[in-house]
Formats: sequence, structure tokens, C-alpha cells
Amino acid sequence: MQYLSTRGNAPQLGFSDILLGGLMEDGGLSLPASYPTVSDAELTAMRGMSYAELAYTLLAKFATDIPADDLRALAAKTYTPAVYCNARPDSDTSQITPLRKLEKNLYLQELSNGPTLAFKDMAMQLLGNLFEYVLAKRGEQINILGATSGDTGSAAEYAMRGKKGVRVFMLSPRENMSAFQRAQMYSLQDANIFNLAVRGMFDDAQDIVKAVSNDLAFKAEYKIGAVNSINWGRVAAQVIYYFKGYLAATTSNNQQVNFAVPSGNFGNICAGHIARMMGLPIRKLVLATNENDVLDEFFRTGVYRPRKTADVKVTSSPSMDISKASNFERFVFDLVGRDPAVVRELWKAVDGGGHFDLSTTPYIPRIAEFGFVSGRSNHADRIATIQRVYKQYGLMIDTHTADGLKVALEHLDDDIPTIVLETALPAKFEETIIEALGEKPWRPASMQNIEALPQRVEVMDIKVQAVKDFIVTHTR
Ligand SMILES: *Cc1c(COP(=O)(O)O)cnc(C)c1O
Repeated sequence: MQYLSTRGNAPQLGFSDILLGGLMEDGGLSLPASYPTVSDAELTAMRGMSYAELAYTLLAKFATDIPADDLRALAAKTYTPAVYCNARPDSDTSQITPLRKLEKNLYLQELSNGPTLAFKDMAMQLLGNLFEYVLAKRGEQINILGATSGDTGSAAEYAMRGKKGVRVFMLSPRENMSAFQRAQMYSLQDANIFNLAVRGMFDDAQDIVKAVSNDLAFKAEYKIGAVNSINWGRVAAQVIYYFKGYLAATTSNNQQVNFAVPSGNFGNICAGHIARMMGLPIRKLVLATNENDVLDEFFRTGVYRPRKTADVKVTSSPSMDISKASNFERFVFDLVGRDPAVVRELWKAVDGGGHFDLSTTPYIPRIAEFGFVSGRSNHADRIATIQRVYKQYGLMIDTHTADGLKVALEHLDDDIPTIVLETALPAKFEETIIEALGEKPWRPASMQNIEALPQRVEVMDIKVQAVKDFIVTHTR
């Protein structure tokens, strides 16, 4: 399997090469040169597989440069129930991503029972094991530099802790994270994990990461890498749970399902699109945004209008607070018939701070052919949905999942199941749960008292040089 660039001006690369890289050489995103497919017989065989076997079977189609036995071992090590046990007491954790029936034709797929209580663990845990494997083979090292306002940074740290050849330098805003989020990250004592709390906001942290990464000499000398949401390994890993959810909700390959996906950077739902392109019988992909509705706007009007960073609204589903959707280019490449010249033209406008408008083009009817519909949710919707779900099903859901469910209900089909992806557990967003329900959310046993654990964090001024110095000192 070779990977092309959505902008068409970069040489094709193999899986292991794009795994460790970010953008392609021409600034585009990587995608399979053609999507692998799953036959009816293969899909039937998958019905009897464990999650790890299913993961191996699908990843083997993407990672053709990793020997089968090695890939099978990596999948088995990654997708073992012990890693995804932060679940409600009645969850069937042997399924890794258990499907919970809410009512006829409405399900919740639990993707957030991993170490950091968000769906990002599903892909990041695989990435940790893949990085260690590929780096060892090549005799290389990597220093992952990132900025986080919560979910991504902690998922990366829990995936990379103790991995040989990998160090993580994660910048976070000193003031803006919840006590729970701080405790989750800063209590890690692993020698290869470094938490840097910046005296500023998330954007200040992000700017430092950009400045360090733009210093190409420093980047090369200190082998600076990233694990952001455009990483192809993460997208590929997310394809697996769409298959798992489909297989759990159906008994025959003639049946279709809908998936509803709380969306920000378009990483999660992009994997759903790819699963559908591979032949998984998905009828609709229901995209849900919060008040930051840049994607809902596109799917309703055909206009893609990234917001200015300063215009991003701070919401109670903060992991979906985005100004532009970094994975969206992958879908648009398929939408415009895989023509890189069109993508280059559209992103010339976007990269220049502008927008594009497909409303009068023949691409618009194709959005429905690809199964996409969308909707948005706001704080009041979120609160009402959390309350209703608790009352109706006795179940606490988090704010992002509530956005997904709210929009899912606007697009239900009578004849087939709709599966809402649970992207975080409520314990991560305690404040809003208390606002909605007047009580604290339930917490997994392993996290009862994490705020009391000793913390290991370096507090820093907003200075690029200070971060560079820290990296230099700690990579010697
Ligand atoms: C990251 C995240 C999202 C958004 O996922 P994308 O892949 O960026 O679309 C939604 N919910 C939660 C809880 C997240 O952490």
C-alpha cells in the first residue's frame, strides 16, 4: 500500500514512512493511493473475530510494509481488555468498544474506556506501540513536541510512557485545565514524559510549538516529531471501531447502520468515511458540531469558512472547539474526485486565511452520495440531552457525546440502527455534569483520588528559547 498526497506534488510513501511524518512534502495530507476493500466473505469472517484480530485484519491492508506476525503481535498488545477497563460496571469490556443499546435502533458505542477516558486512546495506544516498533527497527529516536488543552496531550502521554526511543514534551496552559486534567497528565512519573506548564493560554503554548517546529535546523537536530490529529496511523486505527460497531449492531451483511460522530478536527468521522469507502455498509455519517460550527456550515451550505482563532467560542464541549478542521482536506480530496489540482486551488484560499464555496458546483450532490449529513448543538441542548439520557436510561454521558446524540436524533432512520460514538466519559467534564444533574459524575476506581497524587511538571514563561533549552538539556 502506497500513500499519495492530497496536493499531488509529493512522492508516494509507505506506511512506516508516513507514520513518523506530519504533512506530506508538498503540504498535503497522506491517503492510500486507492482504498483497500473488504469483501462480503471477509466481512462475514470478521463477525467471529476478537477486537485484536479485527484490528490486525484491517491494519494489514494499510500497513503492508510491516511483517504479518509483527503486526498481529502489535494489535494483540494494543487491544487487550486490561487497557480499556475504565468502564461502567455493567460494560462488557471484553469487547474493547462495547455497544450499549439505548432503545430500538439507537446505540451508544463506548470508545472511552481507555487510560484517559476519551476515544483518542483507541488510536493513540496503537501509535505508541507502532512508534516503538518502527523506531527500534530503524535505530532511530523521536522527541514528540505538542501543545494540549486536555484530551490529546494526555492520550499521547499515556500511549508513549515508557516507550523506547520516544520522549514526549507536552506544553499545557497553566491556568486553563481542570484539576482532573492536570492530575491526569502531571502525575505521570515516567522518565520519558515531560510536562511543561506555560504561564499563558493554549494559543501561547501552540505558538511555541509552531515556532520550535519552524526552526528546521533545531527540528532536524533534535528529531522533533508530532502526534497530531492528521497522523495517518491515528486515522487508520479509528477505522477499526467502525467495523466493530457495525458487526455488533447487525447480524447480516445486508443490513446498514448510521454512525453519529461528535466532531472537531474531522479525524474521527474521516475514519468513518474511509470505512465506508472500504465497503462497510454505512448509510449515513451524521456529523455533530458544537457552537463552533464550521463543519456543520459546510455540510449544510457547501461553504468552508475557517474561523479566526480569536473567534473560536469557549464551550462546554471544549475538545470540539476548533477554528478549522485539520483532517477535512482528506474528505474534500475524495469529494472532488481525487483531483489534487482542485484541492491545491481550494487550499490556496484556505491557507491564505480565506474560504471556499462549492455551493454552485457539481460536487454538492456528491456529499449525500458519501452519506454525510450534519447538525449542531449548543450549551442548552447539551444540558437538556444529559438530563434526558440520565432520566430515560439511567446513564450519565459526557458533553461531547451529548452533542452527538442531540444531532443523531434529528437524523434517525426507522429501519436501521444509529450508533452514537461515545467520545469521552463524563468524569472528564465534571463541572457541566454537576450543572446538568446536580451531582458529581461517577469515576473509574483507578481515578478516585488522582488529584492527590504527586505531580511532576515544569512551569515556564511564554518563551520559545526556554522550551528549546529544556529539550536540549533533557535529550542529552
Ligand atoms: C478530540 C475529541 C473530539 C473531536 O474529534 P475529531 O477527531 O477532532 O473530530 C470529540 N470529542 C472528544 C471528547 C474529543 O476528545
